[in-house]
Amino acid sequence: MADIFERLNRLEIEFQRIDKNEQITLAITSEVRNLPLHTFSQLYGVEKVVAEGARLPLVSSGRTDAPRHSDALWLKLKRRIKPVVIAGPCSVENEEQILQLAEEVKQAGATMLRGGAFKPRTSPYDFCGLGEQALKYLQHARELTGLPVVSEVMSAEQVELALPYVDVLQIGTRNMYNYELLKVVGRTDKVVMLKRAMSATVDELLQAAEYILLEGNDRVVLCERGIRTYETSTRNTLDLSCVPILKTLSDFPVIVDPSHATGRRDLIRPMSRAAIACGADGVMIETHFDPQNSISDAAQAITPQMLKEIVVDINSIAEALNDRESTESEKDPLDTNRTHKMCTASSQFQTA
Ligand code: PEP
Ligand code: MN
Repeated sequence: MADIFERLNRLEIEFQRIDKNEQITLAITSEVRNLPLHTFSQLYGVEKVVAEGARLPLVSSGRTDAPRHSDALWLKLKRRIKPVVIAGPCSVENEEQILQLAEEVKQAGATMLRGGAFKPRTSPYDFCGLGEQALKYLQHARELTGLPVVSEVMSAEQVELALPYVDVLQIGTRNMYNYELLKVVGRTDKVVMLKRAMSATVDELLQAAEYILLEGNDRVVLCERGIRTYETSTRNTLDLSCVPILKTLSDFPVIVDPSHATGRRDLIRPMSRAAIACGADGVMIETHFDPQNSISDAAQAITPQMLKEIVVDINSIAEALNDRESTESEKDPLDTNRTHKMCTASSQFQTA
C-alpha cells in the first residue's frame, strides 16, 4: 500500500485518505481531469476507480460530505474480508427462544443476531411480532452474547422505539420505497440495512440509499433478498448478479439473504456459498432450533447446526479468494486487466 502513496507523491498528486468499513479510499484532490483513468487503475492495490459527478454522488463515494458535482476521483483499495453472518429467527417468539438461539448461533459462528419484533405480514391475521417486548428480549440477548442486534422497523414511531435496543435498523423489502421512513432512519446514527424491494431495480435500490445519505447517515448496508419473477420453484429469485454490480456502483457492504430469496431450507447452503463467491460481504440467514415449528417462515429456517456448516464453508471460500487475489497481484502487480475492466465498467455505469 505504501507503494501507492509513494507513486501518487511522485506524480505530485494530492489525496485524502478515508478509512471506512475496513475499506481504504483515497480521494484525489488534485486536478486530474486530463489524466487517463488507467493512471490510477493500474496502481498496485487499487480495486476500483470511481469517477465523481455521477447521478448518485453520495452513494458512489459512500460519503455524506462528498462534493456533489465535481470531477473528484476516488480510489478504492483492495481489502481482505471475513464474511459477516447475521443469524437468528424470523420473529422473536419469546424470551427463552431468543436467548437460547442467540447463544447457539454465536457458537455456530454468527457475528450478529437478527430477530423480528415488528413483522410485516402479508396477511394481517398472521403473527405480527411482539413489538417493544421483543426489542427488550433482543437487548437481553445482546447483553448475554455480545452479538450486535438487527431488527426491522416499518414506521417513524417504530424507529423511535427501536433506537435504544438495536444496533442495526432493518428496512424490509416492503418499505424500500417508503421515502419518508428512509429519511427518518437517515437522521439516526444507526447502521441501516436496506433490503431491496421485491420488484426494485438496482438503480432504484441505490436511489433509496441516496435518500438515507442525504439526511446525513452514511452507515448503509445493502441487502439482496430476491426479486419476484415468473419462477415458482423458489419463493423469490435470488439475483446474485446484483452483488458485483452494487459493489461497483457504491461503497456499501452488500449482504445476501438466501432465506427470503429462496424460501427453502435446502437452498440456504448452496446459495450462501455462491453469495460469498460472487463478492458479498456476508449473509443473513433465518435460524431456529425447531425450524418446522417456527411461527413465521418455517420452510426456510435452518438449525444452528446447519448454520455452523455454512459458516465453515463461506469462511473457506472467502479465504481462498483473498489468498488468490493477493497471489495474483504479487505475480504481476501492474497487470491491470482486472482492475482496468472494473474501472471501465464503473465509469460507464456512473455516467449512464
Ligand atoms: C425479514 O428479514 O425479516 C424480512 C421480513 O425480510 P424481507 O423484508 O426481505 O421480506
Ligand atoms: Mn422471515
